[in-house]
Amino acid sequence: MYSEELFNESKKYFPGGVNSPVRAFKPYPFFVKSAGGSKITDEDGKTYIDHCLAYGPLILGHANPKVVREVSNQLTIGTAYGAPTENEITLAKEVIDRIPSAEMVRFCNSGTEATMSAIRLARGFTGRDKIVKFEGAYHGAHDYVLVKGGSGAATLPDSPGIPEDTTKNTLSVPFNDEEALTELIEKEGENIACIIMEVVMGNVGCIEPKPGFLEFIRKITEENNIVLIFDEVITGFRASRGGAQEYYGVTPDLTTLGKIVGGGLPMGAFCGKKEIMELIAPQGPVYQAGTFSGNPISVQAGISTMAQLDDSFYKELERKGNFLRGNIQSIIDDEGYNVQPVGLASMFQIYFNPAPVYNYADAQESDRKIFLRYFKTLLKEGIFIPPSQFECNFISNAHSMEDLQKTSDAIELGLGAAFKKRRR
Ligand SMILES: *Cc1c(COP(=O)(O)O)cnc(C)c1O
Repeated sequence: MYSEELFNESKKYFPGGVNSPVRAFKPYPFFVKSAGGSKITDEDGKTYIDHCLAYGPLILGHANPKVVREVSNQLTIGTAYGAPTENEITLAKEVIDRIPSAEMVRFCNSGTEATMSAIRLARGFTGRDKIVKFEGAYHGAHDYVLVKGGSGAATLPDSPGIPEDTTKNTLSVPFNDEEALTELIEKEGENIACIIMEVVMGNVGCIEPKPGFLEFIRKITEENNIVLIFDEVITGFRASRGGAQEYYGVTPDLTTLGKIVGGGLPMGAFCGKKEIMELIAPQGPVYQAGTFSGNPISVQAGISTMAQLDDSFYKELERKGNFLRGNIQSIIDDEGYNVQPVGLASMFQIYFNPAPVYNYADAQESDRKIFLRYFKTLLKEGIFIPPSQFECNFISNAHSMEDLQKTSDAIELGLGAAFKKRRR
């Protein structure tokens, strides 16, 4: 069956025809038949260069041979034990060796679980109820953090089904705004258990912290005994070997991980200072558990992935990122497009916005209609990026320079197509 038919069929069985909302786009998403390396092939027989990469996990591209081989071996000796394994220690050591804030780890099954548990841990550690997040930051789909914000301190749930009672302790402030955070902490500091933040806001596009912003947050949280949580579900093992905290040189108290940590299989983790992590059950009283936590298949995929992520790997990936971002900048300069190219390491995006983007409100000013014309042209040219202005695009080490040149050429066409209509 072709993608269009499959989508019509799928809509009968799944709300909106998909199992996670961002996957649906108009008129219909392509259905995947297979993938390998930098490429993904749909049921219509078309192959794309993949810059969505499952929204972040696939830093080695699809079906990396070492991961496939070692995970296949693990499959033959069991897929879940309900008892600990030596491999969990091996992967924990990798996490602790890489992530500056990590002294102890708990593995779980998704980024959502990781942030939910880290927030509970911060509340248990401080005995305080309120949490602070930044407007537009995404920390998974659980109740406490499904608050976009944008209207002052106390914020309303972003979805029906979440009682206001659940989010009344979730406060939000604009990203990159020292004044707003200072004011909030002056007022509420003694009640705030934690600040949870994406170091690079990767779920409203790609917004970097302004110079000094992370240092400021580190200082103000320390002064007020607030636990600082870096949600590095995207940036962990992506921004650098040690994540965004290594990239920017600021170390939080707790870190949440997901996406890459499971080597392309479902997995999450949270880690941090021993003094805090020791409160987790069964060592301490803060409850956290999971049937599939530390699952041997995901753990093996994590180990097989980490084994390939050394310093030279990141150097090479950064070189590829710089090549692509450089090409994008040249195209924009040559044509005088009024857009904002952003990104770092192996992340990139273009904001269809005449002004620089520092926070959620700025990002909201971007022109989604123009973005969609750009997206459609890329798709037609065989380049798959997430179908949203408010996602980040990725590069894996499986992307060749030839792939990246093709992507650049498609972006040139995409920008042309996006703006031609407007000029008319
Ligand atoms: C993807 C993501 C999550 C949620 O992870 P899931 O594995 O989808 O539950 C949390 N935080 C950030 C920053 C993410 O990008």
